[in-house]
Amino acid sequence: AYGKGSSEQITTYESFMDQHSYDTLLLENGLQTALQRNELELYYQPLYNSSTGALSGTEALLRWNHPDFGLVSPADFIPIAEMTGLIVPIGEWVLKQACQDIQELHEAGFPEATVSVNLSVRQLYQQNLVETVCAVLRETGLPPEKLKLEITESMAADLESSSMEKIRRLQQMGVHFWIDDFGTGYSSLSYLSTMAFDGLKIDRSFIQRLLERTPDATIVRSTITLAHDLGMHVTAEGIELERERLLLTAWGCDELQGYLLARPQPLCELKKLVAPASFE
Ligand code: C2E
Ligand code: MG
Ligand code: MG
Ligand code: MG
Repeated sequence: AYGKGSSEQITTYESFMDQHSYDTLLLENGLQTALQRNELELYYQPLYNSSTGALSGTEALLRWNHPDFGLVSPADFIPIAEMTGLIVPIGEWVLKQACQDIQELHEAGFPEATVSVNLSVRQLYQQNLVETVCAVLRETGLPPEKLKLEITESMAADLESSSMEKIRRLQQMGVHFWIDDFGTGYSSLSYLSTMAFDGLKIDRSFIQRLLERTPDATIVRSTITLAHDLGMHVTAEGIELERERLLLTAWGCDELQGYLLARPQPLCELKKLVAPASFE
């Protein structure tokens, strides 16, 4: 193998790589059958209107109950799903399940709720994305305005014309497009002037440093102004402290998401959360 006869460091690196790819292989194998074996589940994290405090929507977050490893974090398996292309069928399942679940929530007496679904770049490249979304909305009965598709800032900054076209067609139908993890994409802002996005989510890393570092507070405040001046809504993710909530509300951030307010939870828990007090 390469690195023969050289330093210890390389050996360490190689064995790390071996272990790493072995785990990846195990996860990759498991992921092939995860859908059929019903090991995938959606959790929903509530989003709140900052001025009224009312629940405004939810973000669908994928969970994988691996038979041997237990709960695997999306941070670990989404990259594998993207690498192998499995994200396409998985993403389609997520979309359908999320729309179905939220339509159920509407019928249970909460017709305002929106659902945010994370879209992978591989899904955006699918030629039939628009048709897939249309079919899901038709089958589940969810009104298009209640669906928000989130794409990361790096995806948004690097759109091909065919992807722009798909986004515009879906927006014309009423589906919303949001920029996720805003501020982490190392990109220019020019995409914000070419495409009309509906909103942006300020990345958790900025919220985490909000109280400690003045520059981060400035960036958050300016991002809120920037979004509003461009006609976009703005959500802050990862709020863990009351002081963060107060500041973001004072600065006019429209919507709040974070452990302080609510954690991601299964649909049944979400239903209890929105049920009128008389049913509790
Ligand atoms: P994201 O879309 O930025 O989702 C927000 C993440 O922040 C979630 O992590 C959520 O649980 C976490 N979070 C929310 N509030 C707090 C907080 O107050 N403190 C902390 N420490 N964390 C908070 P999660 O569920 O582990 O998902 C991680 C990422 O995996 C997501 O980031 C998203 O990029 C990706 N992902 C999750 N589900 C899907 C999916 O269905 N499809 C695709 N393509 N990606 C997904
Ligand atoms: Mg997201
Ligand atoms: Mg996010
Ligand atoms: Mg994030």
